[in-house]
Amino acid sequence: MTAKKGQGAPIVLTASRVESSNFGYDPFIAFTSTFPYKFFKPFTNKYLQHEDLDDGQQAFVPYGLRKVEAILVKEFGRDMVKIAHPDTLDRFVGKDTKMVGISTMDPMGLAYVSTTYNSLIGVGGEALTSHEFKRMMFNPVLTRFDPTVIVGGAGVWQIEDAKMVDEFGIDCLFKGEAEKDLVSLVTKVLDGEDIPRIFEASKPDYDTVLDVLGPGTYGTVEITRGCGRGCQFCSPTMRKKHSFPTDRIVREVKTAVKAGSKMVFINSEDVFLYESKPGFVPNREAVVGMFKAICDVPGVEDVHLSHASLAPIVYDPKILEEGTPHLLEHTHRTLQGRKFVTVEVGVETGSVRIMRKQMAGKALPYKVDHWPDIVCEGIGNMNDHDWYPLCTFMTGMPDESEADVQATLELFDRLKDAKMMKVPVLFIPLEEAMLSDAKRIELDRLSESQWDVILTAWQHNTRIWQSNKEVFIRPLFFLTQCFYVRWRHGPKTRRPMLKMMGLDGTIFDRKVARSCDTAYCASGGRMKVAIDDKADATEDVVVPKDWASAKAEVDLRFKGPEAAAPGVSQGMRNKVKGTGTGKAKANSNDGNRGSGHP
Ligand code: SF4
Repeated sequence: MTAKKGQGAPIVLTASRVESSNFGYDPFIAFTSTFPYKFFKPFTNKYLQHEDLDDGQQAFVPYGLRKVEAILVKEFGRDMVKIAHPDTLDRFVGKDTKMVGISTMDPMGLAYVSTTYNSLIGVGGEALTSHEFKRMMFNPVLTRFDPTVIVGGAGVWQIEDAKMVDEFGIDCLFKGEAEKDLVSLVTKVLDGEDIPRIFEASKPDYDTVLDVLGPGTYGTVEITRGCGRGCQFCSPTMRKKHSFPTDRIVREVKTAVKAGSKMVFINSEDVFLYESKPGFVPNREAVVGMFKAICDVPGVEDVHLSHASLAPIVYDPKILEEGTPHLLEHTHRTLQGRKFVTVEVGVETGSVRIMRKQMAGKALPYKVDHWPDIVCEGIGNMNDHDWYPLCTFMTGMPDESEADVQATLELFDRLKDAKMMKVPVLFIPLEEAMLSDAKRIELDRLSESQWDVILTAWQHNTRIWQSNKEVFIRPLFFLTQCFYVRWRHGPKTRRPMLKMMGLDGTIFDRKVARSCDTAYCASGGRMKVAIDDKADATEDVVVPKDWASAKAEVDLRFKGPEAAAPGVSQGMRNKVKGTGTGKAKANSNDGNRGSGHP
């Protein structure tokens, strides 16, 4: 069976306009796709247009859909499989179309960022991601020709959660990775056989993963799949980490560049764990070699990284020293005229108690007992090398106590001068995660301290990233608080909002005379409260040795006696104290460089 002109292709693949857009290669603009859709309306024409190839197929689509395309083309042939933009579906779906495959990340606007920021903003309708997914699902061409609709991707759990499978006319929700089972499922569709409503795919053999045939949005290239650190709120943790060979990565980079992608987006749960050694020990040669190999591909202009963790670059800061020059030469991002590299880092909390319970693996190869030190050390190292990370902080986790929230605020204090974006998000029980049955936090149940986490983070962001506009932004916050936030989210927002405006402790703060609560104020030692939290009085909580000794212990174990020399630890102690190490520049940026340490 092959596609006949005007009759549609047998297999059509698509994704919503939001997920098929490059957003001008600006991930910060892409971030706004999680906001209420009415806010985005003025920009729709600019960012949600289709970019067609000569044969009408969509030029850029989500990377995951490109993997599906490669699998289906290999099995059924190029003529059978077409990739369409949702606005051109009627050119590809016709009476010969047997199946439409749809990929989605956030179909109902229930992912971390969209849930948090939609409920915070509170007006303007549902998230743009969700609005656009519905727009695609209710395209009349799907009703007219009635193909089998299979929806896959990281966001399918949301559709099941929202009980929208029937409403959207979905024949099958495909959960998991496509490599092993998709072909047999699609064969059944083409043969007219029944398929299950919910299909759970088995784990693939990663050696069978195929190269993409065309570019993903943002020129995405997958370098690893899975994570394995075991955070209980996360789904990639359920997949064992696999690193793809560098020559394959380079081939996919070439595909993206050849197709005109202005960016290469290195996709991984942790770029620093590329080809890592046992025990989550980073492999510097492999990571730096991978950065270099990508940056050396002719035509690569702008390289962007997805996710990373901090422990590997605390363990081996030379990864930054050796890897950064390659990346800085291939970045367009600047802050105050200075180029920087950025990456998303999940810090999540300053509470050792929560870390120990829910995400102890994040600190490996270190024990999690010194989590705040690892965070400060890692971000300090990053700032030293002109890496300004975007860090998520989660609040509303199951069992989060006031002391845990205060521990996060204490960590914020330590990081107050760090060049970083602090992005607070609310806990969401993802379906694939171990905490899938936990209760989701709603905004109206947030405590004053949890509001403090959200608003202190954005005060930091305004100060670091928009310092020249702060004088305009603060009055705007004041008006927002007077006329909207307090009405919408209640009086618990008052003090955090005053703090955000820099008005805490002033005449506007009616509780200005209130004395510091010794248990929680900075001088009272919030971390102590976190570790001694009464809720955990029965837990075997051993206050660990100091961070420098703990680090030296790990160095001794993995690197041998020479690397665990006292000088290394001294440097670490200085960093945590914020005095810096004064190490030499390792990148091509000019100008003075502060220690960048929090
Ligand atoms: S480190 Fe990140 S990707 Fe890995 S399990 Fe934890 S949250 Fe998930």
